[in-house]
Amino acid sequence: MNDFERQIAGISGNGLHSVKVETLQVNLGLRCNQQCNHCHIEASPQRDEIMEWDVMEMVLKAAKSARCQLVDLTGGAPEINPYFRRFVAALCQEGHPVQVRTNLTVLLEPDMEGMPEFLRKHQVRLVASMPCYLEENVRAQRGPGAYEKSVAAIKMLNGLGYGSDQGLPLNLVYNPGGPFLPPAQSALEEDYRRELGQRFGIVFSHLLTITNMPLGRFRNELDRRGQRETYLQLLRDSFNLRTVSGLMCRNQLSVGWDGTLYDCDFNLALGLPVNHGAPDHIKNFRPGDLMVRRIVTGDHCFGCTAGSGSSCGGALV
Ligand code: SF4
Ligand code: SF4
Repeated sequence: MNDFERQIAGISGNGLHSVKVETLQVNLGLRCNQQCNHCHIEASPQRDEIMEWDVMEMVLKAAKSARCQLVDLTGGAPEINPYFRRFVAALCQEGHPVQVRTNLTVLLEPDMEGMPEFLRKHQVRLVASMPCYLEENVRAQRGPGAYEKSVAAIKMLNGLGYGSDQGLPLNLVYNPGGPFLPPAQSALEEDYRRELGQRFGIVFSHLLTITNMPLGRFRNELDRRGQRETYLQLLRDSFNLRTVSGLMCRNQLSVGWDGTLYDCDFNLALGLPVNHGAPDHIKNFRPGDLMVRRIVTGDHCFGCTAGSGSSCGGALV
């Protein structure tokens, strides 16, 4: 039993369990036009893992049988998947609300012509990485030119109504520039609104703050600096009981690019599929078994329960 499991068992007398599958998060592949320092999934232009159409067809069936309220597409850069538009159109045809986690800069790539208009046409909700409103902090995490391109992409999306029209949400995502917890989400949202508004006339719906998980390139960076144990201790010491009921693994499920099922994107990064008797591949998807499955945990889970908590939807409390 890991420390997180022990902590949860001490509270509930049992392991962590899910209660529903409201959101299906689908990883369309690990290829990305960027190679960010903090990427927990270690995506890059060199990765060639891509979800194929036959797996997407199984996801379509699963989303229907689970009556998912949201299909959340992630990657890598999900837009790069060659079947992206076909998949989004099919999901919408079936009546599933779709959300895309975009890194923004991909929208300026040469083969992305018409993508913003396509997203608007299908009323796709957008969650966009923007780790800071200051150029130097974005450059440090995402590389030279990423800030300017991100600003240009947000302005393009704003021009289509994203961030201002009802039905076209554009949420920005902050993550810390190092081994510390995010500041209060609502206060930082005001800072983003003021700074991005004054500098560029940018508007957005909400800011989501996400804690850096000690995985992937961020973990490698911690190791290089000899900070891994200190950071893990910070996450453990910051355990907040009030976050547990809202943990995202309790109401969502992740599908890997090859159809393997995970309790969350972080377990996907670690190669820890769903376990404890629940089906672990989309081809065996059974909503009844997956809704109330026991969740696979590890010490990385303290990243979700630290401080105000963290999830793909931002802070939890
Ligand atoms: S953090 Fe996002 S944008 Fe950066 S390399 Fe990873 S998947 Fe790509
Ligand atoms: S890392 Fe995943 S499994 Fe662990 S608490 Fe967070 S969402 Fe749940």
